[in-house]
Amino acid sequence: MDGPSIKLSPGPEACARVFLLVVSGSRVALAPPAGSQGGFLKRAEVRDVLAWMRLLVDPQDAAAVVRALSRPPIELRQVELARVIQVARRRKLDMVAGLAAATESPQVPPEARERIKRFVELHRSAAAELDTVAPDVFVGRLIQRLGVRGRPLLAPEDVAEQRASLELLHRLAVDYVRATPSASTRDLARHLATVVPDAPGDAHPAAQSPAPLSEPLEAGAATGEGDHAYADLREQALIEDEPVDELHATFQLLREEVLEGVARIGGRLGELRLDTDLDISHGVVRYLELLKLSALLQRPEGQALADALADVNARLLAAATPLQREIFQTSTLDDTLSGPESRDGHSAGADAALGERARARAIAPREQHSLDPFLPRKGIGLALSASDIFTYRSCPLRYKYARVLRIPTEQTVHQRFGIVVHQVLERYHSDGGDTLAQLLTLLDAGWRRAGFGDGERDRELYEKAHAALTRYHARLELHEAQPVWFERQFDFRLGPHHLRGRVDRVDRLGDGGDAEYELIDYKTSRPKTAEQLRDDIQLSLYALAAREDWGLESSQQAYYYVLDDLKVPVARGERDAAAVTDIVLEVGEGILGQEFEPTPSRAACSICDYRIVCPVAEV
Ligand code: SF4
Repeated sequence: MDGPSIKLSPGPEACARVFLLVVSGSRVALAPPAGSQGGFLKRAEVRDVLAWMRLLVDPQDAAAVVRALSRPPIELRQVELARVIQVARRRKLDMVAGLAAATESPQVPPEARERIKRFVELHRSAAAELDTVAPDVFVGRLIQRLGVRGRPLLAPEDVAEQRASLELLHRLAVDYVRATPSASTRDLARHLATVVPDAPGDAHPAAQSPAPLSEPLEAGAATGEGDHAYADLREQALIEDEPVDELHATFQLLREEVLEGVARIGGRLGELRLDTDLDISHGVVRYLELLKLSALLQRPEGQALADALADVNARLLAAATPLQREIFQTSTLDDTLSGPESRDGHSAGADAALGERARARAIAPREQHSLDPFLPRKGIGLALSASDIFTYRSCPLRYKYARVLRIPTEQTVHQRFGIVVHQVLERYHSDGGDTLAQLLTLLDAGWRRAGFGDGERDRELYEKAHAALTRYHARLELHEAQPVWFERQFDFRLGPHHLRGRVDRVDRLGDGGDAEYELIDYKTSRPKTAEQLRDDIQLSLYALAAREDWGLESSQQAYYYVLDDLKVPVARGERDAAAVTDIVLEVGEGILGQEFEPTPSRAACSICDYRIVCPVAEV
């Protein structure tokens, strides 16, 4: 023991067990609250509150965050939790900061987003009081906030037990404050994290053999250090009171998926669809896979997983139809289960990450895989453009309508107008045009080809285009920079995906070998400010393309609003390239996983070509 030992007496009936707390380098032996045998600290509702305290003090405590997310009142589904962890890890953020990023991810469905927002809201309100109220008051309010006293759907006796154990936790905090009046809530949270039941005969290993006092604190610090710790901690937190191995975790995920699949597939049976049989077969195979996991969990002691798998698979396949066999045999579940044995050579962190991703993939619904042949594949990834990425991020269902199902749409007058202006500029420059007359001749020819007539609206638009191109030509004459490429194409790989597109114009700024270039994209819409374009990724993608495909190490970027003769430069940095890469990989993963949940909003739906056919359009 490092410091002086102090005995506290919370009440005459205090039992003999003690809780060991580290207080400012001293050890305080604090008797448990009256009437308590210490077991209440192992109860789920108490551990929930402790997890919240830990994460409020240390947002790097991934285990605490994961527990708080997966337990009431948030109850994020485990599949979504795996996604959130992936997003946080990819962005190299702590879990709390990663949650905000996750709400922007197209892979996180609206319901999960709501849950995450509830978490963020709870976190914000509790964090605001962390340093402003007394520790015991804080604990009392946190219990209220989490609404854990008497959760619905519990039997009255269970509710009473929950209340009692939370009352004991609160009293523990009150005793702590009495003993150390100057301590803060942060101190209390850190110290509660070190509470070790010290009960002879207690079945909990930690109670039978208390760890050295310094150990819990060091372990807590270590959990925040490396990304690889997420996966291990997640398992620990998610299933603290439950089975801990990968097989159990997969079983639990799949059980959830099967139950959801029942509702999803059942709901579709009433629709007029050509692939109903496929839906049903996918649902049946998910159930067979759940049976497989159950059989594996109950296999004879000592039997190798691979041996059991072969046997169970043969039996299940014997009961399946030909279509179900095909689906069953192309599932990645078996690879996932034998994954740890086949992932030699990876670090523990990479291994955990791979395992988590593989499990999420294996569990994801497969009945929509009938769309697989229609995905815009290139090699093992996808062919993507800046516009594809924008469309998917604005609404995955819109992307599905446009790029997967390729439902044709009629061009609006504004779309036709924009196309004409772009084409005129492209032809003018590719033909080596010089004079204003040449430019306006191209406008006249293009105007008629685009189907514009002599009506009032069309004449007004023509005047607009005429004036804009005249100004464009005048500006070009005065231009100091030298336009060197027009409609220059790019095609480069980012992860497994191929990014392709064209940059309207590239200007060379200055002379010499180290001259910079400016990538310019023409727009015929209303101008946006640089601030409004902060989250825009088109120009960032172009900058990446210029570097990856054309070898232009540094470039500037700008939108040129042709109708207003306004150039809006958009500054981009190194961090931007990393963020764009993340976004592209996320979008690619979403499309490959056939995640096309709609994200309706007034902004997205008002410019969506599919709002007439879309069942959830917000207009
Ligand atoms: S109408 Fe709205 S919800 Fe429907 S596909 Fe278009 S953007 Fe998505």
